[in-house]
Amino acid sequence: MKLPEGAAFCLERLERAGFSAYVVGGCVRDWVLGLQPHDYDICTSAKPPEICQVFSDFPLIHSGEKHGTIGVIFQNEVYEITTFRTEGDYRDSRHPGWVKFVPQVEADLARRDFTINAMAWNPKTGLTDPFGGQKDLQNRVLSTVGDPETRFREDALRILRGVRFALRYGLTPRSETLQAMISLAPTLHALARERVYAELCQILLLAKGEDLGTFCPILTQAVPELAPMVGFLQHNPHHAYDVYTHTAHVVEQMPQDLTLRWAALLHDTGKPQTFTLDEAGHGHFYGHPEASRRIAHQVLTTLKAPTALREGVEMLVGNHMLLLTPDKKLLRKRIGKYGPELVEKLLTLQEGDFSAKGTGLPTPEDFSLTRKALEELLQEPPAFTLRDLAIGGKDLLALGYPSGPILGKTLNALLEQVQQEQLPNERQALLEAAEKARKTK
Ligand code: ATP
Ligand code: MG
Repeated sequence: MKLPEGAAFCLERLERAGFSAYVVGGCVRDWVLGLQPHDYDICTSAKPPEICQVFSDFPLIHSGEKHGTIGVIFQNEVYEITTFRTEGDYRDSRHPGWVKFVPQVEADLARRDFTINAMAWNPKTGLTDPFGGQKDLQNRVLSTVGDPETRFREDALRILRGVRFALRYGLTPRSETLQAMISLAPTLHALARERVYAELCQILLLAKGEDLGTFCPILTQAVPELAPMVGFLQHNPHHAYDVYTHTAHVVEQMPQDLTLRWAALLHDTGKPQTFTLDEAGHGHFYGHPEASRRIAHQVLTTLKAPTALREGVEMLVGNHMLLLTPDKKLLRKRIGKYGPELVEKLLTLQEGDFSAKGTGLPTPEDFSLTRKALEELLQEPPAFTLRDLAIGGKDLLALGYPSGPILGKTLNALLEQVQQEQLPNERQALLEAAEKARKTK
């Protein structure tokens, strides 16, 4: 492995001071896979005060010291150096009751979650891989270090990390590993919601439809609001799949955008509760976008998602049946209300939603026409909100309008005419129209 200068320097200094030291974890895994590591964690037999002494001539970060980690700043990069340790007596499905520093790297590797993350490397000794991480990577298998049930009981976050690593590297969890992940998924409730949210975001960005199926029993524990969709039949000739399977297909269609992926995941969560069956045996879901929006609000509030993301998702979910057509007059109105970015995302969601029904119906070319109209519209000078209008309240006052709500009303009426292409967005034309309107009042 070709180490960056800083990592090589840290290992060498520690060794020269008589300690053993390795790069460890994610960087070794990525190197074995032939991928470029994004950071290099270092582990060592040196205890925190000894690490500080070895690097006493460098700026240090002490915030992780009580867990055994010192940050060394080398050429503007932070290298985290952590003392070999073991842990035990896990409390609350997440935190170890004790941490003990140990002299051997193998003992440190044994506390790590998956074999693929439990490898260390050093230029002199090469790869240290006591649990067969390299082989698991070759065989594309995900296994825990040691008994899966014990390891997931210690720390439930490992269940979601497992899903994430499986998806990221295309690994199939060993059957005992998957079974333990599933049987202990109810313990995910004990985790801090922010941690669950962060893992779910990464999982959502990586997931294909099939993955949402494989890990369904875990995801429905992480987000219980998904559970009613599983196996829920739609009794509708336009929907071949149950609501969850359909959802999984829509998620897969979405680009790498968190707002869209969350919106796809949650867009039909309100279907089960709004379901009715008519006399002909057809299923209906009247009002389901609003019901789903409320559920999305609840899910993302509980998970402590950032407000901007939650609001974007709620807009998309609540409006996922909103009519969008290539009609520019309509699109201008929609953009005025929601902004160009969300309208574009709404179109993407609708397209995914439509093509994921599983009935083999062709996607209407309307979608591409609408997208084209939208693109053209965004090239034109904007006429979406009052701010875009070529005149303002002051101009109306100058024409002799009284101040008060009449100003806003008149401007909105003019904007509407501009959007409907009945008036150009030009100062002179707008002033004339305003003048005419004043006289006829
Ligand atoms: P990434 O590329 O996502 O950063 P990573 O493997 O570096 O992957 P980190 O979360 O940065 O993951 O953790 C670094 C290492 O610490 C892991 O490789 C693993 O060995 C160990 N580790 C992290 N979290 C846990 C955990 N919850 N339980 C056990 N070991 C863990
Ligand atoms: Mg990392």
